[in-house]
Amino acid sequence: MRILVVEDEPKTGAYLRKGLTESAFVVDLAVTGADGLHLAVEVSYDLIILDVMLPDTNGWEVLKQLREHKDTPVLFLSACDEVADRVRGLELGADGYLAKPFAFVELLARVRTLLRRGPAREAVRIEIDDLEIDLIRHRVTRAGRCIKLTPREFSLLHFLARRQSEVLSRTQIASHVWEMNFESDRNVVDVAVSRLRAKMDDDFHTKLIHGVRGVGYVLERREP
Ligand code: CA
Repeated sequence: MRILVVEDEPKTGAYLRKGLTESAFVVDLAVTGADGLHLAVEVSYDLIILDVMLPDTNGWEVLKQLREHKDTPVLFLSACDEVADRVRGLELGADGYLAKPFAFVELLARVRTLLRRGPAREAVRIEIDDLEIDLIRHRVTRAGRCIKLTPREFSLLHFLARRQSEVLSRTQIASHVWEMNFESDRNVVDVAVSRLRAKMDDDFHTKLIHGVRGVGYVLERREP
């Protein structure tokens, strides 16, 4: 696991590098925002520990620019433990926030939690063939054409798309999308899927949602 530490105070930087190295991480240290950003974009890190107050570009700006390129988890370190700062960091896409001074064990616990969560910071977009699902704005398009879905249809599509090419049973779909069991009325799933297909498959040459007899449904690209 490779971690980038962006910290201008020599003592803190050395302390973090030593502690993390002893905990079996590979650590790079940058002492300016510009160097940190450069490394963060060029090198593939599992986590970035980012100080807010840096001599040149501050941590907020580094994160903002980083997020235009990459989704690497970021843990903010800051002496200014204001709620507004936390909110600002999280809004910019930070994954955690730790106020200085902190105990090393506390930092290590946060680092491990973030790494466990890992790249599983969920995707913001799913693309399958000409289908595009924007998970942040809840927008769906096929071949650039906007498809209007109800929240339930969106969640159904998201579930099928996330498990692309995997045949999902009606029970799995029901329990995931409706968060309850429809053993008695699995017809609900069929009705919802057929509405969804009408909206997103009927007008297109390539069909994406397919029924699997006796089992359920699968979303994948198949030649017509
Ligand atoms: Ca600093």
